[in-house]
Amino acid sequence: MIPHACKLLQGRVVADVILNETEDELQRMHLQRPPCVAFLRVGNDGASVSYVAQKEKVAHTIGIKSILKVFDPAQITEGQLIGEIKSLNLDTSVDGILVQSPLPKAIDFVNVCNAIHPNKDVDGFGAENLGRLLQEKNGFTPCTPAGIVELLKFYNISPAGKHVVIVNRSLIVGKPLAALLTKHSIWGNATVTLCHSHSQNLPQLTRQADILVLACGKPGYFDAHFVKPATILIDVGITRISDNSPRGYSLQGDANFEAVSPIVQAITPVPGGVGPLTVALLMRNTLQAFKLQNNFAT
Ligand code: NAP
Repeated sequence: MIPHACKLLQGRVVADVILNETEDELQRMHLQRPPCVAFLRVGNDGASVSYVAQKEKVAHTIGIKSILKVFDPAQITEGQLIGEIKSLNLDTSVDGILVQSPLPKAIDFVNVCNAIHPNKDVDGFGAENLGRLLQEKNGFTPCTPAGIVELLKFYNISPAGKHVVIVNRSLIVGKPLAALLTKHSIWGNATVTLCHSHSQNLPQLTRQADILVLACGKPGYFDAHFVKPATILIDVGITRISDNSPRGYSLQGDANFEAVSPIVQAITPVPGGVGPLTVALLMRNTLQAFKLQNNFAT
């Protein structure tokens, strides 16, 4: 019997292409000052610290400036955080603003995102940009869903007419991805099912997927029982698992990779799948924000 060859969808490779394009465009512009993105982080949650550090590192590598503001969760109120955002909205040296989630329970993430000026909302979570996405108008598209579409384009996997099952209904992943994949376009036109913690008989739903997107934050939860042969599996989940390695943890996706990779047609690895795409799309959005605010054609 010929062993089943599961294709690895290398998000990191696609991310590098996007970063190179963004860096090339920046260099061709011969700017007097680089684009600048402001990161706001509340507290010192390990994953948030490393996500922001990674975004800053990539930004600097391709010639984007970043500033980081860190707030004490015991001190900062929602009103004060919104006040910080309002002053960054007025600051003409700042092109993009990103608030790293999660925020403390006392601060409403949606209220905070809605305070970011739509032209600086490089994460695309504000009401105006999400509304524009639903209306299929230009705007900032949330980076993880936009990265998933770039991955599909790179590997020439058309979602049109396919059944895409997404296990997530958050504003960060599931809802904007559903909006993107149901656009009237060749990289849309999918039939989308959104699943969540109240969905009944989840394996019956996920086994219908031509393209299955997992974003539960449940490491290794999805085993052979959840997939059918020929599924394209996009694993968005990232969870830190403590181990004895020098950094003290490894990253695991929601899929049980060993169990599902012999079955599915293609799969994104964790790490090296969707994560780098999210960062690359943030850089592209930051350049777009710079152009919008500095009278360059977009
Ligand atoms: P979230 O807001 O907590 O969303 C989790 C989603 O999973 C919710 O819709 C939840 O349903 C659903 N869910 C949880 N348990 C379930 C179950 N047993 N059956 C079915 N659905 C279930 O988290 P998020 O911010 O969207 O992130 C989700 C995961 O993606 C995390 O691991 C995160 O680290 C990762 N992530 C990765 C990237 C990247 O760049 N790779 C970017 C963003 C997020 P309810 O809505 O009913 O609670």
